[in-house]
Amino acid sequence: MSPAHTTPVATVTSGNAKITCASCKACCCRLEVILMGDDAVPAGYSETDRWGGEVMKRLDDGWCIALDRRTLLCSIYASRPGVCRDYPAGEGDCLVERAKASL
Ligand code: SF4
Ligand code: SF4
Repeated sequence: MSPAHTTPVATVTSGNAKITCASCKACCCRLEVILMGDDAVPAGYSETDRWGGEVMKRLDDGWCIALDRRTLLCSIYASRPGVCRDYPAGEGDCLVERAKASL
């Protein structure tokens, strides 16, 4: 499981609700992002998890290192990992993560 997010900000309709990253708190950027072979993130932005896989590093606040804490936008949007590109706003995990944040 893993994140997506944000610039340009996605807005989708889920049931009767409009889901927009603009009013979200980058909830999905707290999830583990597993890096694939063709992902190229800046040096120092990844780490090895306890199973030996390469993942995006998260800081003590729980968010991905690449998240701009001021804007809550991805600072490496153009080169964000594939799992972030493919993350479906307004669907399963996104709704679960938003619910955890009472959104
Ligand atoms: S959890 Fe959903 S709405 Fe929030 S930033 Fe991620 S994709 Fe956007
Ligand atoms: S790389 Fe960007 S989109 Fe992916 S989790 Fe980190 S901040 Fe969010």
